[in-house]
Amino acid sequence: MTTTTGQCLCGAVHFRVEGEALAPRVCWCRDCQYLGAGTGMANAGFSAEGFSYTGDVTWFESRADSGNLMQRGFCPRCGTPLFSRTPARAHLVFIRIGACDSPAKIAPQMTIWSASAPPWAAIDTALPQLPGQPAAPGKGGPS
Ligand SMILES: [Zn+2]
Ligand SMILES: [Zn+2]
Repeated sequence: MTTTTGQCLCGAVHFRVEGEALAPRVCWCRDCQYLGAGTGMANAGFSAEGFSYTGDVTWFESRADSGNLMQRGFCPRCGTPLFSRTPARAHLVFIRIGACDSPAKIAPQMTIWSASAPPWAAIDTALPQLPGQPAAPGKGGPS
């Protein structure tokens, strides 16, 4: 079983998750551009079953375009975006690849919301692109 570990910038929050990354991808939706400070966000989904963290995480809630309630977890001390989840897909947790100890091991396989990206965005043209949210349940999810 693969174990992925990581932390926030200041080290107050540590996390671990068991299992393979599901559909790692770069998301250029407008929300991710805020959180990524201008760039897209690289996220990987995991089964929520093997997910745990230590330290305080603040969960910011907002309503996604899909109508789903989104919860985004960040470190209240250093502000590092760490996780996202939605009660609509409670079996999944999405983790920011940049917060993982070995980001090189989780390569994005797709770019989503490419239509929302600014013209200067550096998008890997070797990867499949979707202009918006993936439709397939299970593969989709919060980002
Ligand atoms: Zn922190
Ligand atoms: Zn996004």
